[in-house]
Amino acid sequence: MLSQRTRQRMADRLRQSGICDERVLSAMSQIPRHLFVDEALASRAYDDVSLPIGHGQTISQPFTVARMTELLITGRKPGRILEIGTGCGYQSAVLLKTGAEVYSIERIAPLLDQARRNLRSAQLIHVRLVHGDGHFGLPEAAPFDGIIMTCAASFIPEPLLEQLAEHGRMIMPLGEHEQHLLLLEKTPDGIQQTRLDPVKFVPLLPGRA
Ligand code: SAH
Repeated sequence: MLSQRTRQRMADRLRQSGICDERVLSAMSQIPRHLFVDEALASRAYDDVSLPIGHGQTISQPFTVARMTELLITGRKPGRILEIGTGCGYQSAVLLKTGAEVYSIERIAPLLDQARRNLRSAQLIHVRLVHGDGHFGLPEAAPFDGIIMTCAASFIPEPLLEQLAEHGRMIMPLGEHEQHLLLLEKTPDGIQQTRLDPVKFVPLLPGRA
């Protein structure tokens, strides 16, 4: 149930659902997603559902992880990526496996520790995990080729746009009760915005916990 075959079947389903970036499909067929959730939920780790990860937070369903990763890196090298909302570390793992240099910020300290343990057990260690408030980004490591927010904001945090490299992309869920994915791209003419799929994410909250 937790075997390579199960992961491959998940990747096959993602392909059938329209995910076509081979780096994303390959990453998700390799990463043991069950190591990122509580043991009691491990048998559901490869179903296309979101799962609780403690502290009132959730890991997104595999399709959403794949879709956001694909939107961020398709047609380019992943480069340096900033994630807001480390959670259990699964999205960071997927980004790492696609070849990205990953920085990830989480506001809840015990979740960040958990993510560190999860990533280590999946033998992924080259990721910078930071305890902080993602609203402010990570100016000391900017500019970023991509920024991915895995919690929903009701506005676009200005510091994140500032920390985006020229031609950099940002993907985020925007809205409160009604949310959709927003893709932003920094161009010489300004920020281009594209409104995409309806989604349901936990909220971006202020401060550290
Ligand atoms: N990418 C995660 C999904 C985690 S859910 C995964 O793969 O598991 C979203 C996360 O965003 C939660 O862990 C929540 O604590 C975090 N979050 C919410 N507001 C934040 C903020 N201002 N800064 C950093 N993290 C935040």
